[in-house]
Amino acid sequence: LASKLQETLKKLKGKGKLSEKDIKEAMREVKLALLEADVNYKIVKDFVKKVSEKCLGNEVLESLTPGQQVIKIVNEELTDLMGKTESEIKYSSSGLTIIMLVGLQGAGKTTMAGKLALQMRKRNKKPLLVACDIYRPAAIKQLQVVGKSIEVPVFTMGDKVSPVDIAKASIEHAKGNGNNVLIVDTAGRLHIDENLMGELSNIKDSINPDEILLVVDSMTGQDAVNVAESFNNQLDISGVILTKLDGDTRGGAALSIKAITGKPIKFVGIGEKMNEIEVFHPDRMASRILGMGDVLSLIEKAQQSIDEKKAQEIGSRMLNNEFNFEDFLEAMSQMKKMGPLAKVLEMIPGFNSSQLKGVDLDQSEKEMAKVEAIINSMTKKERINPNLVISSSSRKKRIAKGSGTDVQQINRLLKQFEASRKMMKQMKGMQKGFKKGLFGK
Ligand code: GDP
Ligand code: MG
Repeated sequence: LASKLQETLKKLKGKGKLSEKDIKEAMREVKLALLEADVNYKIVKDFVKKVSEKCLGNEVLESLTPGQQVIKIVNEELTDLMGKTESEIKYSSSGLTIIMLVGLQGAGKTTMAGKLALQMRKRNKKPLLVACDIYRPAAIKQLQVVGKSIEVPVFTMGDKVSPVDIAKASIEHAKGNGNNVLIVDTAGRLHIDENLMGELSNIKDSINPDEILLVVDSMTGQDAVNVAESFNNQLDISGVILTKLDGDTRGGAALSIKAITGKPIKFVGIGEKMNEIEVFHPDRMASRILGMGDVLSLIEKAQQSIDEKKAQEIGSRMLNNEFNFEDFLEAMSQMKKMGPLAKVLEMIPGFNSSQLKGVDLDQSEKEMAKVEAIINSMTKKERINPNLVISSSSRKKRIAKGSGTDVQQINRLLKQFEASRKMMKQMKGMQKGFKKGLFGK
């Protein structure tokens, strides 16, 4: 099916304009792809509607084909919907951060409790695991085994004390033993049930957690919406963790849960081992759900062609001697997009890294940042007309102040700029000479 989607999108390629019919056709396939990834059907419907509207109102960028444009929008919206950036654990300023893990039985809470604890221990936190699942046989033992394997202490009072009392007592224990993070592992049931929710609510009220993280098996299909909705309504969760993403699920649950709760997905579990945890990446998840491996590379290419066009524009402005500091800024931001200086240099054919001997790249990058700061401290007028700056010492002083540099550095930049303008002029002259020599009579 994924390949069918690609086919449809390919068909859109090369067409001049994106018609309503084109969008409809592509959206039908997007819809199927999402449903196949087990995204809840209601959420699919909303998503497709929203993206269709966006496509219609959207100008097709000159350097993109209509097909690429659709992919771009679908992927962007999907990424957007799942949270634009990664989000991490919020640590309390009180000195003790309390994290409560909730979710259905078998979702992976106990395993995730261990993974989080290990991660924190490695970052010099002092976590304490708290065994509040007193129902599932051997649940306490399981947490103890996990704790031992990662060298993190486990607080338990056996299975005769109520989870609320265990949770309360664990706070005192943590304070007495120098622990600064509590990770409370709670019980689950196979299905949502009132008793469980009541108990979790009581634990919440008695320990007032900084984070309540809902752990969900990423294989959960259409039901993900119900699970997320009940837990969120009852407990007002602060985030979500998706487990078992190492399986072959496309992970549509991520989209359903995010859409229903609006809460960020913070981590994913990618295996049974204690180090198999990752921060959630919305963009990667988006392409996984779409089931289109090349989606991202396609968009990247499209993006590159936009940049190429800009670069060409700048190039021709340079040769026409209109080059100013605005172009300079643009050129620098294009450079930055390409990555660190060392990487950019490696891309130049025939470039040999031994040529870099004695060149301090970090220093060059710092230099670039300084130049950028200087240009950013100019007014737009000054950037377009550098002569304004060259002839005014008060402007120079103001710019130096704004950029945290000094007038000498401003002068140096202006000189460099003048030199490159001169060089452009000469190049242009040479170009003209060439043409005359070859074609002139
Ligand atoms: P709980 O009932 O929510 O506490 O779930 P558990 O932590 O006991 O996990 C249930 C099962 O899922 C165990 O066999 C775990 O090893 C397994 N499991 C948990 N997380 C992952 C994961 O990210 N990937 C895989 N493949 N298995 C996992
Ligand atoms: Mg458990």
